[in-house]
Amino acid sequence: MSLHNDIVVSYLDSYGIEYQKRRWLPKCLTGEIITAIAMTEPGAGSDLAGIQTTAIKNGDYYLLNGQKTFITNGIQSDLIVVVCKTDLKAVMK
Ligand SMILES: Cc1cc2nc3c(=O)[nH]c(=O)nc-3n(C[C@H](O)[C@H](O)[C@H](O)COP(=O)(O)OP(=O)(O)OC[C@H]3O[C@@H](n4cnc5c(N)ncnc54)[C@H](O)[C@@H]3O)c2cc1C
Repeated sequence: MSLHNDIVVSYLDSYGIEYQKRRWLPKCLTGEIITAIAMTEPGAGSDLAGIQTTAIKNGDYYLLNGQKTFITNGIQSDLIVVVCKTDLKAVMK
């Protein structure tokens, strides 16, 4: 509950665009939507700069590729904030 209330909903509230707030926040508040945040990867724990998951723009959507682990609420979440790289050059470093 604290991860949903204090972390993910706060991210949406602070950094979400208006469309995302209107779409997700009301159900986050009623508990109809459970959220999670996916940072940790098998090959990169605390070192977030080393993550390998990518989101590459493909027309009007992003293609997400990678692995995440230890995600609180992961199995029962409806909405997940995924930490990833959108610049392939950053992954090659
Ligand atoms: C109950 C639980 C819930 C979790 N929920 C989530 C979640 O919701 N979402 C998510 O993304 N992740 C989640 N995690 C994962 C958690 O964020 C990671 O376990 C954490 O980032 C540490 O990564 P790691 O286990 O790979 O350890 P590592 O990063 O491998 O670190 C191992 C040890 O080395 C130390 N260390 C690392 N780098 C350095 C350095 N440069 N110098 C000195 N010491 C260093 C660390 O302090 C640590 O003691 C959860 C973990 C647990 C246990």
